[in-house]
Amino acid sequence: MIADLHCHSNISDGILSPTELVQVAKKNSIDLLSLTDHDSVDGLKEAKKIADKLNIQFLTGIEISTIWQKKPIHIVGLNFNPDDRIMQEGLKKLINSRQNRAIKIAKKIENLGLSGVLERVSILAGNKNISRTHFATYLIEQKKCNTMQEAFDKYLADNKRCCVPLLSVDLSDAVGWIKNAGGVAVVAHPMRYKMTMSWLNHLCQDFKNLGGDGIEVISGRTNEQDIKTATNLCVDYDFKASIGSDFHNPKNKFVYLGMNKKLPKKLTPIWQDML
Ligand code: AMP
Ligand code: MN
Ligand code: MN
Ligand code: MN
Repeated sequence: MIADLHCHSNISDGILSPTELVQVAKKNSIDLLSLTDHDSVDGLKEAKKIADKLNIQFLTGIEISTIWQKKPIHIVGLNFNPDDRIMQEGLKKLINSRQNRAIKIAKKIENLGLSGVLERVSILAGNKNISRTHFATYLIEQKKCNTMQEAFDKYLADNKRCCVPLLSVDLSDAVGWIKNAGGVAVVAHPMRYKMTMSWLNHLCQDFKNLGGDGIEVISGRTNEQDIKTATNLCVDYDFKASIGSDFHNPKNKFVYLGMNKKLPKKLTPIWQDML
């Protein structure tokens, strides 16, 4: 069984449309897929339709930008009702805050000596859900840097000169929305927050107390040590294990849909009771 339960379409900051993404998933022999755009469920209907046609099992998904102990933590929701009213209202606020933040980031980038930033970035984002990824693409386009990594390292990473924090939702609220809509909540890429083990344990304990269901044990670019650490966290907190590439762009040769990695046998897959 090849599963990929974390990826992005052009509804958020990915490159492919939901339909194109599912077609690539088919090419990569994926059996079970979820589309998890940042703070948006708008691509799910389209993705489900083509997944049904191509005989791929599809779960509804989202990656919500949350805040916990003043730290940005991403929570993946899976297998929930995307029409749930409470979740929809919460997401509307998140998307509005993205637009306000984009205006502020654009001003900071204009201070680098560029103009018409918001107009161009809005086009790059298809006039919706502007993320830092779109600003990074713009900075490369304008030859202010050569790679995405450089754009983040120089200008857009947390605390760099052009970054403005997103007004995120509390971890507890996001978990509440997902559970209330009948889904499961998963900590996305736990090893990417660069937390000490003591902070990671604190996060897992709080997440467990809130009703969190699992953590991503395998994510795009996780190494063997990351997988070991996340496996131990799964065992210690009795979490189910998820796997997701965090695919955004087919040009990134290191992160592709499906990934060819398997969860450690002793862990319970997050999809165990869903299929
Ligand atoms: P935002 O949700 O607007 O704050 O943007 C965060 C997005 O930027 C993440 O979902 C990643 O896709 C991307 N991102 C963050 N850091 C990096 C990085 N160092 N290199 C490339 N992309 C990054
Ligand atoms: Mn992203
Ligand atoms: Mn993320
Ligand atoms: Mn992601």
